[in-house]
Amino acid sequence: MDNKPLITIAFDGFSSSGKSTMAKSLAKRIGYAYIDTGAMYRAVTLYCIEHNLFDGQKLDTEELKRQMPDIRITFQVEKDGKSVTCLNGRNVEKEIRMMPVSSKVSIVAAVPFVRHALVRQQQEMGKNKGIVMDGRDIGTVVFPDAEMKVYVNASPETRARRRYDELKAKGDTTTTYEDVYKNVCERDYIDSHREETPLRKADDAIELDNSDMTIEEQDKWLMGLYERTISNLKRQ
Ligand code: C5P
Repeated sequence: MDNKPLITIAFDGFSSSGKSTMAKSLAKRIGYAYIDTGAMYRAVTLYCIEHNLFDGQKLDTEELKRQMPDIRITFQVEKDGKSVTCLNGRNVEKEIRMMPVSSKVSIVAAVPFVRHALVRQQQEMGKNKGIVMDGRDIGTVVFPDAEMKVYVNASPETRARRRYDELKAKGDTTTTYEDVYKNVCERDYIDSHREETPLRKADDAIELDNSDMTIEEQDKWLMGLYERTISNLKRQ
């Protein structure tokens, strides 16, 4: 049993920057819980689509506000150890990653009362530390006091290629690389220009551009940063 202090680890960055892969892998290695906050915004978006709250790209925010208390998002650990996102008890892990949700999620994520509700839930999940959380506002809003903050970036082309390969692996045969590239750029724009807590790097976050890094190199870099953060804390 080691006596390392438990800390909070925040990952932020643009869509498909590889933050989830990095965050998940670090959480597993150090035995921390991992929360994908993008999945929460995606689950609310799926709810909106299924309840006809969208007219094209226009969201009926009044109706969403009324129905917000009916939306319950949880994470459930499956038999194979993988955590899946559930919307009102239903496993929606696959659907929330598909293009219909990706093309609308940034609209839902820009709504202030949606953000307030999800941020509160995220703060509750991480209140005992020992958690790795990834999103857009973790180091700035959800856990501004996180001991370790990473801001991940990669070129839009690299990110679109990753998301495209992921979709193909999941059996999507209709979405083209151009569709994904356009969606990545659109979400970058909305996420960094919205009024309510836009995506930005926290002043004390360490930035990593992983465009040309292998997964092994990223893991090594992260473990180094984690060890340094812990030893600095012990010295204080
Ligand atoms: O991380 P992922 O790409 O799955 O996130 C989907 C969308 O959810 C983002 O494009 C962004 O609009 C929104 N999001 C957010 N704040 C977070 C996590 C995700 O606004 N903390």
